[in-house]
Amino acid sequence: MNDAMKRPVIDVNGIGDETAKLLQGLRIFTVGDLLEHFPFRYEDYQLKDLHDVKHEERVTVVGKVQSEVSVRYFGKKKNRLSFRLLVNQILVTVTFFNRAFLKNQVTVGAELTITGKWDQHRMTITGSELKKGREERGQTIAPIYSVAGKLTTKAIRKYVYQAMNQFGSYIPDLLPPDLLQSYKLPTKKEALSRLHFPPNAESLKHARRRMVYEEFLLFQLKMQAFRKANRDRTNGRALAVPEKEIEAFIRQLPFPLTGAQKRVVDEIIKDIQSSYRMNRLLQGDVGSGKTVVAAICMYAVICAGYQTALMVPTEILAEQHVQSLKGLLEPLGVTVELLAGSVKGKKRAERLSMLESGELSLVVGTHALIQDDVHFRKLGLVITDEQHRFGVEQRRVLRDKGENPDVLFMTATPIPRTLAISVFGDMDVSIIDEMPAGRKSIETYWAKPDMLERVLDFIEKEIHAGRQAYVICPLIEESEKLDVQNAIDVHMILKQHYKEKWEVGLMHGRLHPSEKEAVMEAFSKNETQILVSTTVVEVGVNVPNATIMVIYDAERFGLAQLHQLRGRVGRGEAQSYCVLLADPKSEVGKERMKIMTETNDGFVLSERDLELRGPGDFFGAKQSGLPDFKIADVVHDYRALEVARQDAVKLIYTDGFWTDPSYEGLRTYIEDQGVLNGEKID
Ligand code: ADP
Ligand code: MG
Repeated sequence: MNDAMKRPVIDVNGIGDETAKLLQGLRIFTVGDLLEHFPFRYEDYQLKDLHDVKHEERVTVVGKVQSEVSVRYFGKKKNRLSFRLLVNQILVTVTFFNRAFLKNQVTVGAELTITGKWDQHRMTITGSELKKGREERGQTIAPIYSVAGKLTTKAIRKYVYQAMNQFGSYIPDLLPPDLLQSYKLPTKKEALSRLHFPPNAESLKHARRRMVYEEFLLFQLKMQAFRKANRDRTNGRALAVPEKEIEAFIRQLPFPLTGAQKRVVDEIIKDIQSSYRMNRLLQGDVGSGKTVVAAICMYAVICAGYQTALMVPTEILAEQHVQSLKGLLEPLGVTVELLAGSVKGKKRAERLSMLESGELSLVVGTHALIQDDVHFRKLGLVITDEQHRFGVEQRRVLRDKGENPDVLFMTATPIPRTLAISVFGDMDVSIIDEMPAGRKSIETYWAKPDMLERVLDFIEKEIHAGRQAYVICPLIEESEKLDVQNAIDVHMILKQHYKEKWEVGLMHGRLHPSEKEAVMEAFSKNETQILVSTTVVEVGVNVPNATIMVIYDAERFGLAQLHQLRGRVGRGEAQSYCVLLADPKSEVGKERMKIMTETNDGFVLSERDLELRGPGDFFGAKQSGLPDFKIADVVHDYRALEVARQDAVKLIYTDGFWTDPSYEGLRTYIEDQGVLNGEKID
C-alpha cells in the first residue's frame, strides 16, 4: 500500500458519499489530506495561572464575577457581552461576541469557568466557553478542527481516528532517519497521531516541531532548488550597462544618493550585468527613496537597449510613479507612459503598438499590464511595487512577457534581514536602511484614553494652522462590521465635538468605490479637515497637508500596521505628529507603545517586535506577503525556518542528496514541484 495516502477518503470506513462531499468543501480529497487536516487550535482545559500564559494563548480559568454584565448590540445579529472577573487576585475583562444569551449566567459573585483566548496587552479573555462553577475535565487538551457545513469537530475526530487505524502504518516518512535522529524528531506517523490525539502538552509540542520542520524543509528545498537551477542555467542575459552614463545620470539628480541607495543600486546593476536572471527583493521604508533607485536601474536597462515595466497595485500609485519617472527620465530622451484601466480606446491601442515596436521603453501600469494583448519587443527588467499585493500568477504573467527578464520586487514592509532571507529563499535581498538627510521624523506620543479632550484640542490647533488630521478607529479583530460601526460612532462624536467649525469625513471598507473616491477627493482638497477612517486608508494615499494622525486603541494594532498608518503623515514640509491612544495593561503592551514613540525606523521596529514577539504581532500575513503555511508560523517558528534553510542549502549542494536512497522522498518532492528547470515557483 505504497500509495495509501493518495487513496480517496471514501476508502476510510464510516465515510460515505455524502461525507466525502462535505470533506471536499475543506479541500480534503485523499486519506493523506485527512490526516494532514491539522487542528487549527487546541482547547486547553487544564486550569492555568495567568502569569504563565503568553499573549494570544488559549486558557481555561476559574474566577468570581466582579461586575454587572454589560451587553452592547450592533445591529440585529452582532453583540458584545463583557464583564469583570477576578482570577487569583488578577482582575480581567471577559468578552463574548454574539453570545448575549449567556448574560443570565453572569451574576455578581458567581463562580465561573471560562475558556478563551488571552490578550495580555488588554488583560482580556475573549471567551469561547462559559461554565457555571468550577469545571474539571478528564481530557485536558482537545483538538479543534476547522469545519464547514454539517461537519463537526467531533465527526472529524472520528474520521481521523478511523483513518489512522486503517492506514496509519502506511504513512511514509519523507525525512531520512539521520535527520530525525539528529534533531530528535518523532516519525511522521508518530507526529500525526500526537497532533490529532495529544496525550499531553509536551508530546504535542514535539509533534508540532516535527511537522513544522518538515513543512519548512520542503519549502526551502523548493526555493533553493529553484535558485540553484536558475543560476546553473544562466538563463538570464548579461546586459551591457554603460556605467559612465549611469554615473552621469546619478550626478545630475537634484540630491546625492544616500549610502544605502548607492549600495542597493550597485547590487542591482551587478545582477543586471550578470548572466543569471535577477530575482531580487528591495525593501525600504516609506520615503526611503525606492523610486529613484528603480529609475536608475530602469535607465540602465534602457541604455542597454531593452524595455522595462513597473507594475503597481493601484491606479493612483501608477499615476504618481509616471509623474516622478517622467520628471527624472524624459530629459534624457526616455519615453514613459501609463497603462491602466483609465487608458482606453485609441490611446491604449497606440501605447500597445509602441510597446510592441519598442518605441516605448518604460511603461508603468496596473493589472492592465498583464492582459493578453500587451506585447513587448524586448522586455529586460520587470519591477513590481508592493509585490505582496499581486498574486504569484500575476507576477509570472508579467515576467513571461519577456524572455527571462530580470525581476525586482519592491516593498515598504520592513522584514528583518534574517527573516527575509529565510522566507524569500529564492530571492536575493537588498535593504535601504537609511533615510535621506533632513527628513523630519514624525513625533509620536502615547496618550491614555482619558486624555482624549486634550488630543482633540491638539487636532484643533493644527487645523487652525491650516493642517488636516486622520483619526483611525478602533480595530476589532473578530468583525469588520464592528470596525465600521466604530468608525461611524467616532465620526458622530467628532462631528458633535467640532460642531459647525470643521468638516469631518468618514471612510470605511463598506463604502462603494466611487464613494471612497469622493471621500478621498474631498480630503485631499481640504474640503474636509478631519478624516475618520478604519484601516482602509491605503498605502500610497498622499495628502501632504495632513500632519496629525490619532489612532484609537493603538494597542490592538500590530506594530507594522501602526508604522504603515503613521506613514500617511509626515509627507509635507511641516512637522507631523502621531498620537497613539492606548491603555495597554501588560508590560509587553507598554513596551510596544514606547518603541513606537522612540523610533521611526521600520527595521528597528520589526526587529524589536520579533524579539518581543507576540506571535503574529508584526506581520499580518496579508500585510507583508509572508507565505502561509499549514502548521508552521514564520514569525513564531522563525528559528526553525532558518535551520531548515541552512539544511536545504546543504542538502542541495551535496552530491549524495541526488543519489542516496534515503533521500528519495525529498527528491521526488522537488521533482514534483517542477522547479528544476528554473521556471516555476510559487
Ligand atoms: P519610497 O521609498 O517610499 O518609494 P520615494 O522614492 O517616493 O520613497 O521617495 C520619497 C521622496 O524622497 C521623494 O520625494 C524623493 O524625490 C526623495 N528622495 C529620494 N532619495 C533622496 C535622497 N537621496 N535625498 C533626498 N531626497 C530623496
Ligand atoms: Mg514607493
